[in-house]
Amino acid sequence: MSTPEEGPVSWQWHSGPVSPGPAVVFDVDGVLSDASGRQHFLSGYSRDWDGFFEAAGADPLIEEVARLLELLEPSLSVILLTARPARIREITVAWLEHFGLRYDLLVMRSGGDFLRAVEFKRRETRALKEYGFELRLALEDDRRNLEMFESEGVPCLYVHSGYYG
Ligand SMILES: [Mg+2]
Repeated sequence: MSTPEEGPVSWQWHSGPVSPGPAVVFDVDGVLSDASGRQHFLSGYSRDWDGFFEAAGADPLIEEVARLLELLEPSLSVILLTARPARIREITVAWLEHFGLRYDLLVMRSGGDFLRAVEFKRRETRALKEYGFELRLALEDDRRNLEMFESEGVPCLYVHSGYYG
């Protein structure tokens, strides 16, 4: 059994590193948080990504997915894998705390990481497996990410959000 490590810079543990083992991966926007109220930031001629991300703290919770998270076996590790930029980490952590959402690891896109969301998630998925996580299931609202997870051998449950960043 390897010793838990900090992992890449894009990883932030909730209460310190957890041991490798079975885990479930949740996306955030469109899966746990209802981002539909800030879609207008992306609808103009020039998409306002800063405005879109900075408004994330006011998102409503997607109750049924939060309930599913709550009902998961406590021994499973919960990984939140989001393409949100790390500069809104505080907003994101405060939002998670506000709703009392359980997680062990939050993975966000570091400053200067300009990979497309799907390639960012592919790289992180491989790093999670390399760490020793056995990714039992992922939940996603973006079919491009769903296809990525399945191509990496991770079963993925599609959540319909009607929202696509
Ligand atoms: Mg999403």
